[in-house]
Amino acid sequence: METGKSKSPRMSIAKSHSSRVKDPLLQYVLDHSMREHPVLKKLRLRTMEDSWNIMMVACEQAQFMANLAKLIKAKKAIEIGVYTGYNTLNMALALPEDGVVVACDINEVYTNIGKPFWKEAGVEHKINLQIQPAMKTLDDLVSSGQAETFDFVFIDADKVNYDHYYEKALELLREGGIVAIDNVLWGGQVLNPSKGDADTVAIDKLNKKLHKDTRVTLSMLPVGDGLTLAVKL
Ligand code: SAH
Ligand code: CA
Repeated sequence: METGKSKSPRMSIAKSHSSRVKDPLLQYVLDHSMREHPVLKKLRLRTMEDSWNIMMVACEQAQFMANLAKLIKAKKAIEIGVYTGYNTLNMALALPEDGVVVACDINEVYTNIGKPFWKEAGVEHKINLQIQPAMKTLDDLVSSGQAETFDFVFIDADKVNYDHYYEKALELLREGGIVAIDNVLWGGQVLNPSKGDADTVAIDKLNKKLHKDTRVTLSMLPVGDGLTLAVKL
């Protein structure tokens, strides 16, 4: 069980890799619902060899987001925080042939791990990788006239900038578009934000803001490390 004391990137709520494996009910969920594309599975296993693998999104959460993207017939998505690109590949597979995922990260060492898998899965052409601070990429999208044209935004990069990413996401999304925000429970640390670090404070502050935000409809789901879904009205 995550103690919430570690300063390293957060493990999922009650779902560190060891506890994920040990949780028989979660295992049942995985055994009875996962339909992971073979190349996605390969990328997940390759990511497990990386020392920062706890940053990877939970696979059942990724599959859920792919279902949501299909449900709203998404064509244009943004991934803010790519890491090895497990969810970037997942979204690219869920989008139509002419779909695009704008993939934002600052670390090419991570994204280079994923690239060959994007190619192997045959969806490389749908992924527009931007290696620079995500805020710059989002600003560029707005200034190139792409405001209100995106269907789905996944926020999963540096937590202190979450509120900025959220505001930009609302600008870039069409009506009915979805912003999905990861790690909103932050390993349980949101229960004691005053004792927490800047990341915890930023996440808790955004959670509180969203609760009152009338620009969106809202759900906070205890999947993975906590996932907020906000649909732009
Ligand atoms: N969504 C990923 C996990 C992302 S982990 C998955 O599906 O597995 C968080 C990522 O955010 C890291 O790769 C890190 O390099 C990136 N990141 C951190 N600060 C950033 C910034 N300012 N702009 C863009 N990416 C950033
Ligand atoms: Ca995350």
